[in-house]
Amino acid sequence: MENSTFDLIVVGSGILGTFHAIHAARLGKKVLLTEKDQYPVNATVRNFGQVVTSGMSSDWFAYATRTAELYKEIQQEFDISVRNNGTVYLASDADELQLAHELKERMDASGYGAEILSAKNCLTQWPALKMEYCKGGIFFPQELSVEPDKLIHRLIEYATKKYPNLTYKPATAIVDCEVIGDHVEVTTASREKFIAEKVIVCSGGEFKLLFADLFKNSGIILCKLQMMKTVPMPEVQLEGNILTGLSIRRYESFQECPSFAKLTTPEHYAELKKWGVHLLFKKAVDGSIIIGDSHEYADVNHTDDLGFDVNSAINELMLKEAQNIVNFDVRKIASTWAGFYPQHNSKHVVEADIEGRIHIRTAIGGKGMTCAAGYAEASIKDIYN
Ligand SMILES: Cc1cc2nc3c(=O)[nH]c(=O)nc-3n(C[C@H](O)[C@H](O)[C@H](O)COP(=O)(O)OP(=O)(O)OC[C@H]3O[C@@H](n4cnc5c(N)ncnc54)[C@H](O)[C@@H]3O)c2cc1C
Repeated sequence: MENSTFDLIVVGSGILGTFHAIHAARLGKKVLLTEKDQYPVNATVRNFGQVVTSGMSSDWFAYATRTAELYKEIQQEFDISVRNNGTVYLASDADELQLAHELKERMDASGYGAEILSAKNCLTQWPALKMEYCKGGIFFPQELSVEPDKLIHRLIEYATKKYPNLTYKPATAIVDCEVIGDHVEVTTASREKFIAEKVIVCSGGEFKLLFADLFKNSGIILCKLQMMKTVPMPEVQLEGNILTGLSIRRYESFQECPSFAKLTTPEHYAELKKWGVHLLFKKAVDGSIIIGDSHEYADVNHTDDLGFDVNSAINELMLKEAQNIVNFDVRKIASTWAGFYPQHNSKHVVEADIEGRIHIRTAIGGKGMTCAAGYAEASIKDIYN
């Protein structure tokens, strides 16, 4: 009974579930963190690892700021792959540059450090950029990046070492979760049973194993993104989170700038926008460069329609635009993959509470690596209030 009874069971050990488990363990709760796979293989390991606070707005800017603090705090104790090498948004035309200046004003007003860089400054700092593309940029030197293939594994290792009251159980799919009187009973696929006062479900884009009826009517949308990674190119100078003109035209923080409403789409962006492409680069520790991404969507009841394959025409479109931006050979691709995350069109995250004991927290969208740690802290406070 001792080993099967907990204060809290967290379902799903992606970034959102793992940080819920960590914050509950910090409160002294006896926590079980479960993962259906042998180790997490979904959005949390398939992303860029860009921690771009500067792209967020409203409450999510605050969650992102707190997330960065938590990453740094943990990194001081245990190497979870956090690096401080900044974020730059590169403007390719006058409209994008104008938005960069307006964001700088907003950041100055909120006391969040930002620097406007001239085209020359950008080319000096990132010699891999092409002069023809870069008209200037906005730089956030304080921002962080993480290595998505390492972070979650190291974070779970850190958490289980640091908190003896946190137990991790991988290869444990939860297939039933039911409130019975004053507790919740959880059943695994191998019919093992666990009991807890509360359960938090952070199941990412998995909608069929638990609460399928609730998800059917949730309004969640699944997004498929295509990504590529070059062979290691240690000689290429492209450190940090590199975001480009199409990101300026897409990210929330720019949408709040006065000129955003007047922005028109130049003809050469039309095909890229059709596939939701905005070009980002992130150099990994081994010197390889992650290039992406595109966005295709399906509603929660038709997610299989997105397919599992990588559409080479979309990759080609991204590589063509990437080659307009950087001067190294972007076609030296070592791997390509699709990643998926759930999102909601009118909510920043989906929260549902069942009988005050089961708390669903998912669909954090494309900002989980930037906001999950801070959001999970607030969510745990709310749940235990
Ligand atoms: C290609 C791509 C690029 C991205 N780039 C960035 C970026 O640069 N910066 C950024 O901030 N964000 C980025 N994101 C978004 C970020 O990766 C996600 O927001 C985040 O990883 C979501 O975390 P999660 O824990 O909600 O979901 P997931 O990582 O999907 O984790 C959910 C986990 O729950 C498990 N699970 C599900 N059901 C059960 C069950 N019944 N029993 C047990 N376990 C279960 C799953 O196996 C999975 O491991 C990107 C995403 C993608 C796909």
